[in-house]
Amino acid sequence: MFMLVNMTKTYRGGEVQTTALDRIDLTIAAGEYVAITGPSGCGKSTLLSMLGLLDTPDGGECWFDGRNVAGWSEAQLNRLRRGRIGFIFQNFNLIEELTVAENVALALDYLNVSATQRKVRVAAMLDQLGVAHRAGHRPSQLSGGQQQRVAIARALVASPALLLADEPTGNLDTAHGDEVMRILRQINADGTTIVMVTHSPAHAAQASRTVRLLDGRILIDALQPA
Ligand code: ADP
Repeated sequence: MFMLVNMTKTYRGGEVQTTALDRIDLTIAAGEYVAITGPSGCGKSTLLSMLGLLDTPDGGECWFDGRNVAGWSEAQLNRLRRGRIGFIFQNFNLIEELTVAENVALALDYLNVSATQRKVRVAAMLDQLGVAHRAGHRPSQLSGGQQQRVAIARALVASPALLLADEPTGNLDTAHGDEVMRILRQINADGTTIVMVTHSPAHAAQASRTVRLLDGRILIDALQPA
């Protein structure tokens, strides 16, 4: 599904140049559940934006679904990403002016889904994540755990092949965090590929593979003991 070959990403700010990712080789197969770990500043977020086609590398190759997207324009990347990649974030990123159902429906924009189908898919997804009774509420009227479940519903409603999660339990208490981790395991068991950035060794251990970064390089790439 994803293959990074000798991939480098450098940020330039005035005089200073930071190599956020340094000659990364990484292949992610469909169906995997990969945890990305490492100290702050080691390149985790940069790697996740590369996998999310939110940015392109300065060097090397970045293959997604059989295409090398290095050098593609933002518009081309947007088109390729749409419906194929879902995102969830630490701070949920829900839009307060919209209801829960409208937030989830947003992910179906530009996807050629009829109004009826939109309603059906949004309702089914909210139901699956146990927040159907909150469909008409605003995000701030929900608990953190419920907001993250809505964000997961939004990420999944278009049935993406790949789900990217950036510290998805970072703003949740232990019980809600564990609940989100249970949902992610289920989503992966149902066939969605997941790549998750996490600081929690316990959560990383729930993935089937751990990639540990240090200073923009892969330090460890190991399958989880079964
Ligand atoms: P992590 O997610 O592991 O904390 P990041 O991927 O955010 O690490 O950052 C990797 C390195 O790249 C850090 O040194 C960071 O300061 C730098 N960096 C990240 N984004 C930018 C940016 N937009 N401009 C300049 N430097 C950046």
